[in-house]
Amino acid sequence: MTPLILVLNCGSSSIKFALFETGTAPIAREASMHGKVDGIGGPQPTYGDSRQGTDAVVLDAARPYHSALALIHARVRSCLSDAQRIASVAHRVVHGGSKYFAPVRLDAQVLADLKSYIPLAPLHQPFALEAIEELFRIEPALPQVACFDTAFHRTQAPIEQMLALPWSVWERGVRRYGFHGLSYEYMSHALPERHGELASGRVIVAHLGNGASLCALQGLESVATTMGFSALDGLMMGSRCGSIDPGAVIYLMQIEQLSLDEVAHMLYHDSGLRGVSGVSADPRDLLPLEDTHPQVRTALALYVRRIVREIGALTAVLGGLDLLVFTAGIGEHSDVLRARVCQDLEWLGVRIDPQANARHAAVISTADSPVVVGVEKTNEEWIAAWHSAQLLAAAA
Ligand code: ADP
Repeated sequence: MTPLILVLNCGSSSIKFALFETGTAPIAREASMHGKVDGIGGPQPTYGDSRQGTDAVVLDAARPYHSALALIHARVRSCLSDAQRIASVAHRVVHGGSKYFAPVRLDAQVLADLKSYIPLAPLHQPFALEAIEELFRIEPALPQVACFDTAFHRTQAPIEQMLALPWSVWERGVRRYGFHGLSYEYMSHALPERHGELASGRVIVAHLGNGASLCALQGLESVATTMGFSALDGLMMGSRCGSIDPGAVIYLMQIEQLSLDEVAHMLYHDSGLRGVSGVSADPRDLLPLEDTHPQVRTALALYVRRIVREIGALTAVLGGLDLLVFTAGIGEHSDVLRARVCQDLEWLGVRIDPQANARHAAVISTADSPVVVGVEKTNEEWIAAWHSAQLLAAAA
């Protein structure tokens, strides 16, 4: 019997999954199967995986999320041979609060704790918890492990975790937690393999996906990051605003009379590239339009400017920069946006080779560039699978 680990990454309208074979140490980085259900709760949900392609599916309208999970469960099982079985499920959970800084085996008590963190991340935390509960219901004996996006940042000094609010607020747990931790943790494995000693120096990783953040690492540990108390902070994102003067929020609510829900919706869903461009949250839609649509051009210019500003800030925290790495959807695939960011960082010693950048090479800087610039595919699913395998092996 080959035991498999199913990794689930549950978002508001999609569930991504990946299946890893155990039995080798460390387990293989490539998932033996991966896929997602997209458009959950929308008019045209789809199911796609690396073996069967993508097709339209019908989900139970009353419980679309549970129906999507059941679909993944059934389709993955139908692909298993007689010699394979799902031995555990690893979940990407956004928030571990101030209690969970390492992966944990899920039980009723842990689940209750994680539910109590929903107010800390109301738009991200509930989905993984729904999946966990549903799996407990369907297969109570199946071990489940939670891996937290906040955990990797536990090494940060208190000064990076603090907000300049009254001390009592800090004591109540309102702090900068940081996110995308599974992606940055993966980099702490992949970058030394790729760049050797340099990876232990002063490093900034730019995770530029739908959500986006930067992490400053030194000695392969998180020193500072741009996301803070919530996943709204820091960089401009697909539809999220990033850092914003809180006075603007007060103004919108007090003077323009927007309700709390309206402001929250604006900051999470109607801002960022989507809000400024008025067209789309996706650079693939925006780049072809920028010559003819000034608002689109402004949106992309602001997106780049915010990354450059924050790289400047994190470089100051690190006291210099040895290695800059781009990852996630935009970071891995958009040579155009990488080139724009790097061009504005020439003062810092960033020089890129246009051909290497166009090829999405692992190193895109010139041989004489004082700062090495890399492109690295992230693998949050593998980190979750690896933690799950370790945790369950230690408990066996
Ligand atoms: P998520 O942030 O949802 O985990 P990804 O890291 O895969 O997902 O990022 C997805 C985003 O990456 C897409 O919404 C899209 O905006 C962007 N993206 C993907 N490919 C490209 C590309 N070739 N050029 C520009 N942007 C891209």
